[in-house]
Amino acid sequence: SQSLADLDPDVAAAMNGELSRQRDTLEMIASENFVPRAVLQAQGSVLTNKYAEGYPGRRYYGGCEHVDVIEDIARDRAKALFGADFANVQPHAGAQANAAVLQALMEPGETLLGLDLAHGGHLTHGMRLNFSGKLYENAFYGVSKEDFRVDMDEVRKIALDTRPKVIVAGWSAYPRTLDFAAFREIADEVGAHLWVDMAHFAGLVAAGLHPSPVPHADVVSTTVHKTLGGPRSGMILAKQEWAKKLNSAVFPGQQGGPLMHVIAAKAVALKIAASEEFAERQRRTLSGAKILAERLTADDVTKAGVSVLTGGTDVHLVLVDLRNSDLDGQQAEDLLHEVGITVNRNAVPFDPRPPMVTSGLRIGTPALATRGFGDAEFTEVADIIGTALAAGKGADVSALRARVSKLALDLPLYEGLEDWGLMS
Ligand code: PLP
Repeated sequence: SQSLADLDPDVAAAMNGELSRQRDTLEMIASENFVPRAVLQAQGSVLTNKYAEGYPGRRYYGGCEHVDVIEDIARDRAKALFGADFANVQPHAGAQANAAVLQALMEPGETLLGLDLAHGGHLTHGMRLNFSGKLYENAFYGVSKEDFRVDMDEVRKIALDTRPKVIVAGWSAYPRTLDFAAFREIADEVGAHLWVDMAHFAGLVAAGLHPSPVPHADVVSTTVHKTLGGPRSGMILAKQEWAKKLNSAVFPGQQGGPLMHVIAAKAVALKIAASEEFAERQRRTLSGAKILAERLTADDVTKAGVSVLTGGTDVHLVLVDLRNSDLDGQQAEDLLHEVGITVNRNAVPFDPRPPMVTSGLRIGTPALATRGFGDAEFTEVADIIGTALAAGKGADVSALRARVSKLALDLPLYEGLEDWGLMS
């Protein structure tokens, strides 16, 4: 049968364009990563053809003997990697995992307490336009105005006031670890279930570089495609007592047939995540983020009104604070894009600028660490970003772009991809 390039040159050309973009620029969106070839192979496979509603050994379709093996492997690896009693690997993405978690843990109309979106929370933690904001009553905690950290006394006060059924700990934009034991205590005190959404930091947890929420939480959800470095998808871990409710909330509660090609890719990613090579990559990820935080708060940069929230980071990202800078978040994102570095603008808590403009940048190191970046390369990247932000509209874009290109050439991405048939 025809190759993609012959059958559909328009789509193939755009795919080639995207491959070149990933190779030629530096990816620093904190939620992104590069999957290895084995994950791409599993995901681009004939498993996409198979319907497998139900769970291994209890399917609603015939012919599931091979996909059963795959889903069992994925579940076993997920449980072993995180030390969990139970795993469901069927959620199509993080949002679907979270919808199933809420369906299992609470009834519509009950109260969910989560981190405010404007302070780094996720849409599925109760945002007004999301299902989690429409189906449930919502209460929020935020970060403190003084140090931009979650204040557990404040969380406790709000929990006592609002008596939530579920408390969620987890974030999309927060540069510090959370105190899961303290969340557990508060949940117990107010009679709430504790759900941790570790989507962002799951890879660090797998490598033992971040406290694990698994011993503390009733349920833990995650995406597989961020620090964990697997296919775009979601996953749920839990204490055994929640197994039945969670399985039923994923299927038939939220989804129909699972994506078996993606589950195979998850299994592969979970195998990789148990390796020493993966742990070493996560160490470079963390070290790179610390270097970024240090260089961006160096004197020549801070003079331009740039700082990082909380003064540093414990995780794979830094939140740049541009509230006192001439550049707003949009301008800074655009400037770095011109230089060849991809980041996203991000509102800082108590942001005076509108949400489409913002006063912050979220900059992450997972994708570059996967590309092979170590301390020397992260130092150079930090200096490129710092120089650009300090110079603002007067930045020498072509000189900075040349430095980016050199890094991209020195640590090439997806070498030999043309050879295995994705492209003509
Ligand atoms: N949970 C958190 C904390 C996230 O940051 C994200 C993605 O940004 C999600 C859930 C949702 O994941 P997805 O985009 O796969 O639906």
